[in-house]
Amino acid sequence: MQAPENMRLLFTAGEIRSRLERLAREIASKVKPSERPIAIVVLQGAFIFAADLLRKLPPAFGIEIAFLRCQSYGSGTRSSGRVLLLQDIDPEIDLRGRTVLLLDDILDTGLTMNFLVSHLKRRGAERVRVCVLLHRRRVARPAKSGARKKRLKPEFAAFTIGPDFVVGYGLDYAGKYRHLPMLAAVKLPRSKR
Ligand code: 5GP
Ligand code: MG
Repeated sequence: MQAPENMRLLFTAGEIRSRLERLAREIASKVKPSERPIAIVVLQGAFIFAADLLRKLPPAFGIEIAFLRCQSYGSGTRSSGRVLLLQDIDPEIDLRGRTVLLLDDILDTGLTMNFLVSHLKRRGAERVRVCVLLHRRRVARPAKSGARKKRLKPEFAAFTIGPDFVVGYGLDYAGKYRHLPMLAAVKLPRSKR
């Protein structure tokens, strides 16, 4: 399938599939059953990524799956600079002493992941292992005076991208394009950059 006209193809459905196969093998080799792992999927953006990745884990892997819903973007393409936890994981889930495999669509500024890692640790998780479909490479800015918070790095990432605004495979632009089987870059009007 081709990307819509106003977009530039980044990764085809086939490329995503084979990359996720390798990523699932990497996860299965690093995360041990003794960690009693639970995958926590960040809705909405990670729903397709998580569904495909988790089905590639070995049948005997023994991982639980839970969901939470979070928002850091408004309806456009810029971060609101705030993270809202719209829906937490079910209250009866006990994270104490366990490893969380936190699955999100993209790690951009790291604001969302920083917030969620703290939240899940506060809920008792022993360890939070961050796994994203996309990791945005950012140009390092010179540090201003005073200590600068270190940008969180994902332990697992399927692809690294540049500054493009990406849609497809679960990621949206104003609510649309999540259903595209490929990852594509939107050609944004200058005013939205
Ligand atoms: P962060 O908190 O790391 O700055 O941003 C993470 C969130 O911003 C992601 O979960 C995603 O919802 C949104 N986001 C960041 N970059 C993009 C992008 O290129 N495309 C889309 N669709 N969402 C993005
Ligand atoms: Mg998101």
